[in-house]
Amino acid sequence: MASRSSTLTKRESQTAHSVRVSWRAAVRLRNGHPWVYRSDLEGSPTLPRAGVVRVLEEGGRFLGCAISSSSSQIALRIISDRDCDESELPRLSAARIRSAMEYRNALQVPEHSNAYRLVFSEADQLPGLIIDRYNDVLAFQVLTQAIDRKDVREAILETLETELHPAGIVERADERIRELEELPSIGGGLIRGDKMATVIETRANPDESPLRFEYDAAAGQKTGAFLDQRENYAAAQRYAHGNALDVFCYQGGFSLHLARRCKQVIGVDESRSALEAGERNFEMNRGSLAAPEIEWLEANAFDLLRDWSDAGRKFQTIVLDPPAFAKSKKALPTALRGYKELNLRALKMLEPGGILVTCSCSHHVSQEEFLGMLAESARDTHRRIRLLEVRGQSQDHPVVAGIPETAYLKCVIAFVE
Ligand code: SAH
Repeated sequence: MASRSSTLTKRESQTAHSVRVSWRAAVRLRNGHPWVYRSDLEGSPTLPRAGVVRVLEEGGRFLGCAISSSSSQIALRIISDRDCDESELPRLSAARIRSAMEYRNALQVPEHSNAYRLVFSEADQLPGLIIDRYNDVLAFQVLTQAIDRKDVREAILETLETELHPAGIVERADERIRELEELPSIGGGLIRGDKMATVIETRANPDESPLRFEYDAAAGQKTGAFLDQRENYAAAQRYAHGNALDVFCYQGGFSLHLARRCKQVIGVDESRSALEAGERNFEMNRGSLAAPEIEWLEANAFDLLRDWSDAGRKFQTIVLDPPAFAKSKKALPTALRGYKELNLRALKMLEPGGILVTCSCSHHVSQEEFLGMLAESARDTHRRIRLLEVRGQSQDHPVVAGIPETAYLKCVIAFVE
């Protein structure tokens, strides 16, 4: 009797938490993309808030388990191709964090840098969880209802403490997304330990001393530091020479790497506090740089590039790393015009034999569109450019085949004739 009633309970609960999805969604899931949009749910079911549901195709075949949202247009996000239930989510999240760490260890990321992304949401099969490591301080962000569950959060924090013994764990709150996900508003800030500021070390080459950067979770912009550019800093350093200009320099990620090779470096940003951090970063590394100083210029990059290119100023190396111009697909034409304006000016200012490092972090701008914009800029300035490297984000921000949204950063290094 006992076993029959427990079978019944199980079947009942499975029925309650099984959701059928359209043929179109099933094809997408089979191709490795983990999202099901609300419009792809069959029979308009009411999804549990922060639940775990079994996803079935129209004919009833099991496709995987997903976390559900009661509010987002992305109603379901697959977390496993195996059967699992609500109570397993904490244990599954902990296991996923450990395999995310194994992946980074296998690639020897911690040997190059003690600051890197430890968990990158869907790319690490933990939809809505982002964890960054800054030496002994960890920063995390939760963007989905299921990951925000108390038992899941506890499991995540416990795993991080056991595996990494951080001196502080800081929560970052993206209030706009939390509101869309109908998550309670939180202040963010320190939630474990007592440390929010630290110094990170990153190494472009194994035989070089590391560069040091300050990290302050209480002060930084949204991300604190641009970890996704780490490998591009090293690549830019390999080609940098002569007079260098780093446009949209923030706290000097590229500038300091350029300063390893170049005697003259100018960093441009409109944020004074970012430039001040850049100068402190320069001071921390002064002994290991070729440049005796870095000139930090507080300016609007568009105005400055227009003035300087009109005035005929020349450089041998220019980095362009603007903020995301296309926040939506609709903004694409305007964004491409913005990128083109910057790249035209930079090409005009580069000496023959110069190096252009040009980036875009808008995921709505494809690599093809970005390269198209660059080719047009070269044509319009009558410069012939050779693409030395067409790069993306660092390996600790994995790009998963079948999930185009995981690839967002473009970084092209070009030789300008
Ligand atoms: N290259 C940096 C990251 C750049 S993030 C790094 O690797 O760390 C984009 C930067 O552009 C921010 O620091 C922001 O302050 C700056 N910014 C945005 N709009 C700007 C503008 N119109 N002129 C100058 N700087 C701008």
